Amino acid sequence: MRKAIPDWLEAAYVQPVELLSADGDSPLASLIARAEAALCLYRYSDARTLATAIAAHPERLDERYRCMLLSLTARLQFAVGRFDDAFRTFDEARNCAEQKPEFPLLALQWATTLERSAHYAEALDYLSSALRTIESSDEVALALIRTGIAKIQVVLGYPQTALETLRYDTIDDFENTFARARLAIAAADAFLAMNDIEQAIELLQGVQSHTNSFLSNERELLLATAYITRNDWDDAGSIAEAVAMRCEEQHLPYHAAHARLLYGQVFAEKTSPYYSPPLAIEHFKRALDHIAPISRSELAGRIYRQIATMYRTIGHHEKALQYLQAYLEHVERLHSPRTMLRIKRTEIEIARQNFEIERAQLREHQHSLESKLRRAEQTVAHVREQMEEQIAYLGTVAHDLKNPIAAIMMSAAIIERYGHKLSKADLDKHVSSIKQTAEWMKELVTGLLDFAALTTGKIKLTIEPVHTALLFDVVIEAYRLKALAKSLTVIKEYSDDDLYVLADSKRLQECLDNLLSNAIKYSPLGRNIYCRIEQHGEMIRLSIRDEGPGLSEEEQRRLFQQFSRARSHDTGKEGGTGLGLSIVQRFVRAMNGTVGCESSIGKGSTFFIELPRAIPPTKNGYRHSEQPAHSAQASKP
Ligand code: ADP
Repeated sequence: MRKAIPDWLEAAYVQPVELLSADGDSPLASLIARAEAALCLYRYSDARTLATAIAAHPERLDERYRCMLLSLTARLQFAVGRFDDAFRTFDEARNCAEQKPEFPLLALQWATTLERSAHYAEALDYLSSALRTIESSDEVALALIRTGIAKIQVVLGYPQTALETLRYDTIDDFENTFARARLAIAAADAFLAMNDIEQAIELLQGVQSHTNSFLSNERELLLATAYITRNDWDDAGSIAEAVAMRCEEQHLPYHAAHARLLYGQVFAEKTSPYYSPPLAIEHFKRALDHIAPISRSELAGRIYRQIATMYRTIGHHEKALQYLQAYLEHVERLHSPRTMLRIKRTEIEIARQNFEIERAQLREHQHSLESKLRRAEQTVAHVREQMEEQIAYLGTVAHDLKNPIAAIMMSAAIIERYGHKLSKADLDKHVSSIKQTAEWMKELVTGLLDFAALTTGKIKLTIEPVHTALLFDVVIEAYRLKALAKSLTVIKEYSDDDLYVLADSKRLQECLDNLLSNAIKYSPLGRNIYCRIEQHGEMIRLSIRDEGPGLSEEEQRRLFQQFSRARSHDTGKEGGTGLGLSIVQRFVRAMNGTVGCESSIGKGSTFFIELPRAIPPTKNGYRHSEQPAHSAQASKP
């Protein structure tokens, strides 16, 4: 695995001041290192110039350099307050570096930016993920990340934890002097926070021998802070002044501001022999001048507050208020990017959720529209089929009516013309033929009317417990003669004589009539017909089996459709309307039952009706109150 921080970039962390002053036509790597150094020292305009120079050669940017340039750009955007752009650019950088060895470096850089503007929680997040992904042998990276975390822990009031993060005991094991110095300075910071000033000073003094100018500024500023804490005003003053002057000369705005602040404190503290609020204010204001271009830092806030305190001390309340106001605005500005980011993320999340919801609703709507459309298409197809059948049937009916009418007219004409010459037997034959034909016509017309009434829902049903065996017996008795005429034997197969169903007895009787008359109609002479009653769970099945010609699967499928008549050549001798079974089906459905047929050609047919079982009524009424008679409307198909 590659090091988290490449050597050339390491130089930017180790020797930012030296690197920044290096001239010459630099290759890409050195340009990036110099830009990083400029950023590290808050010299934004230098950093921007260098970044522009890097971006000017996109062809030289491989994936790795592209990530680094993006990271650099993001931090520059952040520095000048373009937070939206900064977060977006950094996201781009992170996407490009994720899962790659560059990730810890990018995380470290972004965390430093966040930490400097007091976004501690986010900074810690990035630093921890960077720590998880680096090699323990990468000493510079390890030191930078650990000190980054420790610094925040000190600020948040956990100096002891900071020392643990730094592995204080193992600092001397580091070979890299920069790493060692950096860790020692961070440890000194923690000791200072724990009020162990001597330990802090000892550590800082130990660092002096091997350090670069960036670290030496950091070290001296901390040392000055330590001296102030123990009221060592001379030492504090001389160090702070020296650092301030040096940094002002070198154009290092952040360190210069920090040094001026510390120097000003030598005049601000009442316990100091140099106590002079006007002088303190002067130094603080100079500090403010340095920090103004990098106003988005913690340090600026501290300076505003100090100036406000000083003005109050000398009774300039107006001015004090003015700086306090500036301090508050600064704090607000400092926190605005975090708040903005949160708001933005929440907005995006809400927008995303809304989008998902809308998409799901649209999809659902589309599905329901599609299924409605499918249903509508099916209905249209069904209606068209029915209409075509009805038109065809009307043709058949007209044809069927025309022949008997012709027969009736012929018989009538014969009687009219030759009536007086005909024998009694011949006369009877003609009259009976007229009667039979008219009977058949009546049956057809009645069926049509019944069917029309059923279709428009005009028939009302009275549902009540019906004794199946008794009802079946009535139907069989009614057809006894017709069966005898064809030498058919009707055999009863009742599994139980006392079964009740919930039905309209009159309509159920009509249905059984229809099935039995069909069985008789389509049975050859001398066969058997079996009438059966049996229980099927909660349903009672009434079936009629014949030994007739049977029906093909296709015929069975069309059986219950209105006007359907099977092969006329088989049943041609038998007059039929083709309405019976479809009327049966509608009645049975209205009584919450089902009707069906089991048959195959040459093997006879079984037609059955299944209806809900009813509890037998007691002598003085119903056994259970839940079984009163109720009415139902025969429904449309
Ligand atoms: P139809 O008045 O023509 O009998 P149905 O609706 O009662 O009208 O019967 C429809 C058709 O089903 C009949 O025309 C006949 O072809 C066939 N069918 C009905 N019952 C039987 C049966 N028991 N055996 C053979 N075919 C039958």
